Amino acid sequence: MKYRRHSNIHSHEDLKIDCSKCFGFCCVALYFSTMDNFPEDKEAGKPCKNLNKDFTCKIHKDLSEKNLKGCINYDCFGAGQKVAQNIYKGTSWNISSYQAQEMYDVFIAVKNLQEMIWYLYDGITFTEKEDLKLKIENMIKETESLTNCSAKDILNIKIEEHRNKVNYLLKEVRSHLRKRISSSKKSDNPLGFDFIGKDFRKKNLIGENLAGALLMGANLQNVDLSGVIIIGADMRDIDIRGCNLENTMFLTQAQINSAIGNSKTKLPVFIDRPSYWEE
Ligand code: SF4
Repeated sequence: MKYRRHSNIHSHEDLKIDCSKCFGFCCVALYFSTMDNFPEDKEAGKPCKNLNKDFTCKIHKDLSEKNLKGCINYDCFGAGQKVAQNIYKGTSWNISSYQAQEMYDVFIAVKNLQEMIWYLYDGITFTEKEDLKLKIENMIKETESLTNCSAKDILNIKIEEHRNKVNYLLKEVRSHLRKRISSSKKSDNPLGFDFIGKDFRKKNLIGENLAGALLMGANLQNVDLSGVIIIGADMRDIDIRGCNLENTMFLTQAQINSAIGNSKTKLPVFIDRPSYWEE
């Protein structure tokens, strides 16, 4: 197969969320609204009304039933536990209230960096080119070292500049892959942007570019998404039952959580199958 992962040399495990080691940062630090299927309209820095004192969620078991997809789909890429345990050594935002705003800002910066590492992990599995692999390895190390800085240093990181460097490498992975294939899909131009509700079931999408596309409610049942770039695509309520995403590029857990799949949906090994998907 042209678009296939060569290895899974990196484990995404340390980028998976562990709410038991976090202080509910995402339920406090972020602005959210009922329009995005969160429980209330809330400003950044204010704890959600459902957050318990021990940082658990009062309605955790009912999130699905209450259709609180904003909560279900959110993924901090492990930033919450990292900020809580490594950077602030177990001191929470409510104990050290004078530091609370700083903690929220650090959480958001680390979340962005962890997300970049996730994509780099994915990118490296698609290339066999040794010099490119080395460049990605070095960028992973550089990005990881940024997440291990002090809070003060993290707040001085120019996140967008760093993201541009990461994106440049991810594009190199994509171009390298394209050079190896002889399909008509050589262009780096996205297939399009607005596909809300579109029926893709009879389309050959292999190798297409759906970066940043609006796919909400689209039907991709039984479609093969090998080699498709899906970075930043809005996959809320898309139907991916029976769909093959094993070799889809730059897919995240949050995208999968927001989609409708079933036991026949093929996922990369590092993505968890949502418990609420049908058989
Ligand atoms: S409802 Fe629960 S998971 Fe959602 S933001 Fe509030 S406390 Fe967090």
